Amino acid sequence: MHTATCDTEFDALALTEKQARERVLAACKPSPENELIGLTKALGRVLAKDVKAVADVPPHRNSAMDGYALRAEDQQPGHPLEIVGRSFAGHPFTRELGPGQCVQIMTGAGVPKGADTVVQQELTRREGNLLFVEQALKLGANIRFPGEDIRRGDFVLRAGRALSAADLGLLASVGLPKVLVHRLPRVAFFSTGDELRGVGEPLGEGEIYDSNRYVLHGLLQSVGVESIDMGRIPDQREAVEEAMHTAAEQADVVLTTGGASVGEADYVTRILRELGQAEFWKIAIKPGKPLNFGRIGKTLFFGLPGNPVSAMATFGLFVAPGLRKIRGENPRPYRVFRAITRDELKKRPGRTDFQRGILHVEADGTLSVTTTGMQGSHMLTSMSRADCFIRLPRESGSVPAGGQVDVIPFSEIF
Ligand code: AMP
Ligand code: MG
Repeated sequence: MHTATCDTEFDALALTEKQARERVLAACKPSPENELIGLTKALGRVLAKDVKAVADVPPHRNSAMDGYALRAEDQQPGHPLEIVGRSFAGHPFTRELGPGQCVQIMTGAGVPKGADTVVQQELTRREGNLLFVEQALKLGANIRFPGEDIRRGDFVLRAGRALSAADLGLLASVGLPKVLVHRLPRVAFFSTGDELRGVGEPLGEGEIYDSNRYVLHGLLQSVGVESIDMGRIPDQREAVEEAMHTAAEQADVVLTTGGASVGEADYVTRILRELGQAEFWKIAIKPGKPLNFGRIGKTLFFGLPGNPVSAMATFGLFVAPGLRKIRGENPRPYRVFRAITRDELKKRPGRTDFQRGILHVEADGTLSVTTTGMQGSHMLTSMSRADCFIRLPRESGSVPAGGQVDVIPFSEIF
């Protein structure tokens, strides 16, 4: 008979990856506070309201080419047109074009009334004030129409959208200098562990540098939240309790690493139970089996495992989706790609593995993946070299080279 604590066997009490994420998402609510901010500050921020266009884009008919604006029917072989003026970007020709007339026009310049076609310069020959069209074009050629890109009244962007560089331009093109976005969630975090030293300090016997806090700095920055670094906290009941309490008072979400299991020095699990509502989850994934999740007052709490790779994996799979939801983003499941593994991948049935891999595109366009090598959950090199997780299902054993596997690019998660 199997025991529920053995990592390498099937643990019926452990949540699946999907179940754990669903529970997190159910507990995370979009931040109800909004702020109006200028476009240059809005990259990555999340729209709190749908944006509708109040005018057409482009706002007027304009030319897609440098050339001549004319009436299509006037393009007759051997019959030149009279050039009566010019329309440059920002300097339109304001009169109406008569029959047999044309104006020189530049890209983006307004097409004068009366003209219905633009012939690019290369297809014409000019003699003084006369224009010979050497290749006649169809009616409407090279003219951009008002509302072609966005029509007045159309939704430009929907609430829940994290703004990209293109989005900022889109908002500018409809004339909006400011946007209403969700307030950034505040996330307080600290590391726990008596063995941890700060970078720059000398290491004593049995000590290691606190790398998790730097990982979390980076991860929180790339998700896009306000972060509060509370440093390192020793494995002492009072110290951990006070840090958790203080963190919960200033933040919407608290993250800790280490002390998250059920060992003697694992205070996080016990204190969360006393201070708030706690759930201790065993999740059937590797790395990252234990995860504390709960609340202290109104503040959400995630107690991540101490091993850096486990901390990163649990952050990416559970914390990041939750934070994105609090940021106001519409939840979007990560995309999974199929690839051929070039290496044998060692695995024992029981948990879903998230092995670290490097994705390749073969000459014929198919995807393949290689492993980063040793997969110890204390080895950050495996994350640093990797650009994807290779996800191997719970029941799967080792996969031989040449087998098909699921691959999740880090850009889908982090
Ligand atoms: P714990 O979850 O506290 O039992 O820690 C599990 C493993 O992760 C131990 O080997 C710790 O030394 C290591 N660890 C815990 N916190 C950190 C940290 N902040 N940076 C690097 N390693 C850590
Ligand atoms: Mg510890």
